[in-house]
Parts: sequence; C-alpha cells; structure tokens
Amino acid sequence: ARQFTRPLNDLANQFNTLLSAVAGAERVFEVLDEEEEESDEKSAAQLGEVQGKVSFQSVSFSYEKESKTVSGLSFTADPGETIALVGPTGAGKTTVINLLSRFYEPDSGSIYIDGTDISSVTRESLRRQMAFVLQDSFLFQGTIRENIRYGKLDADDAKVERAAKLANAHSFIKRLPGGYDTVLSQEGGGISQGQKQLLSIARAILADPKILIMDEATSSIDTITELKIQEAVRRLMEGRTSFVIAHRLNTIKQADQILVLENGVISERGSHSKLLKSKGFYHHLYYSQFQAVSRL
Ligand code: ADP
Repeated sequence: ARQFTRPLNDLANQFNTLLSAVAGAERVFEVLDEEEEESDEKSAAQLGEVQGKVSFQSVSFSYEKESKTVSGLSFTADPGETIALVGPTGAGKTTVINLLSRFYEPDSGSIYIDGTDISSVTRESLRRQMAFVLQDSFLFQGTIRENIRYGKLDADDAKVERAAKLANAHSFIKRLPGGYDTVLSQEGGGISQGQKQLLSIARAILADPKILIMDEATSSIDTITELKIQEAVRRLMEGRTSFVIAHRLNTIKQADQILVLENGVISERGSHSKLLKSKGFYHHLYYSQFQAVSRL
C-alpha cells in the first residue's frame, strides 16, 4: 500500500516538533502537508459539510506486502451514532481510523461519507469534517486561548470560552495565574495530562464537526478530572458520528455499535447486551478484562 503520510500513531509525536518551528498555529496543516508530500488528485473535489453517515465497503489494507493488516471491513455508521472499536492490541483499530482520515488508502474496497467516496475529495476538506481527540493531545507552544482556537481559527474569545466551559476546562483555566493567556510550553507542559485532554475536547467542541475520532486515554487520571472528561466527552459526542477506540466499559456499553476486531477482521458486532449473549470474544474480554478493573 502506498503511504501518503504518517500514521495517526506517529502524528501526535511529530506534531509538537513541527509546531515548535512554526510561528502561527494556522500554518500547521500547511507544514504538515508539505512535510508529508500529500498530494491530492487534480480532479479531487471539496467535501462540503456532511451529515456524518460513514460507510466502509469491503475495505482491505496492508502496511506491508506480506500480510493483510485489515481485510473485508464492512460497516455503516448512521449520522450521530457512536461506534466503539474494541479488540486486542494490533487488531487493526488504529488502522480503521488511519483509513477513515486518509493517512493511508485502502488496497481494495471503498470508504464513503454521505455516499461520497472519500478518495475523490481533498484530504484537507475531508479532515475539516472531523475532530480528533487522541491520547497525545496536539497541543503546541502558545497560549491556552490559541490552543483552543486552533479548532476554529476565526472564533472570537467568547466562543473560545464557551467551548472551554462545555468542555469543563474553564474552571481550571481561570485558576491559572495567566488564565486563557497562560503560555503552554512545548507539548502542553505545565498542565496535567487530564487538563490537556480537556483542552483538546474544548478545541473539538469549538471546531464542531459532524465526525469525531477518539482514542480513549489509558493513562491514569485523577478521579475528579476523569469525571469531568467523561461528562465533556458525552457533550462532545452528542449529535456527531463518533469512532472511539474504546478502553472504558462505560463508553463501550453506551455505543450504538461495537465492532470487535481480531487480526484485522470484524469478528463480532452489535450492542453490548447482544455481544454478551453471543458468548464470543467480547464476552471473554468483558469477563477477563473489564470485570477485574474497578474504575471501569
Ligand atoms: P490496534 O490499534 O488495534 O492496536 P493497529 O491498527 O495499530 O492495531 O495495528 C494493526 C497491525 O498493523 C499491527 O500488527 C501493527 O503492528 C501493524 N502496523 C501498525 N502501524 C503500522 C505501520 N505504520 N507500518 C507497518 N505496520 C504497522
């Protein structure tokens, strides 16, 4: 498979390195694009505002020739639905996200958003319809206000603060000596892991796209912040088609569809209760993993 750009996994790492070399946040995507030499087809159209129906049809892909990473993936998410991707490490969850956001292209099969094949539109217009809340938040050296505003560069201060309030970030920001003008050092130094997540949620709320991509944090975060994050995430997911690489049982239970990936194929799918009844891998996962961990 041809690699157009870095996979999502590496993107967060690269992001901060790139940003530190750049004066203004608005240049980030430009720089990323140059760096990665992503070139769209001349005929590529602009994807306009979408409703958020996402459909994979027989999608197969491999990073290397020898073995298929994912194969025959077919599913449809209706607008507003939450899709939880679960399965063991290496099963292909991140790859699904990489393909949906076109960090890689399928070897065969197609991915549609509102019926438009995403390979026919520019990557920039595609990603404009998405917000990413990942384990490594894309924070850059700059003020908190600038970091949130990155979600929507023309938003005024009132909109930035409104998004921060919805994300449960406003109160901690106000407690910082510099408030919204507090300068974050590179990689968001100076604030906690949980606070970084609240900022990336605020940014996504401000961006207000129809498609949300989340990789739930596995790192331990204090309980109060964790509750704030969960509440903010619930608000963020409302009305958006959300793909969540899910680690928390609550998230999985509330998903409209759970896709269980094993060795690159969807081995089971359905709601929590349906999957528990079918006594397959999900049932095993639930009893071996989730039942043992109290904070889930
Ligand atoms: P998950 O997110 O479920 O842990 P991934 O989608 O990250 O799984 O990985 C699926 C498989 O693809 C794994 O075997 C992984 O080692 C491999 N893989 C992931 N990224 C790359 C890459 N950039 N190049 C080669 N192989 C990769």
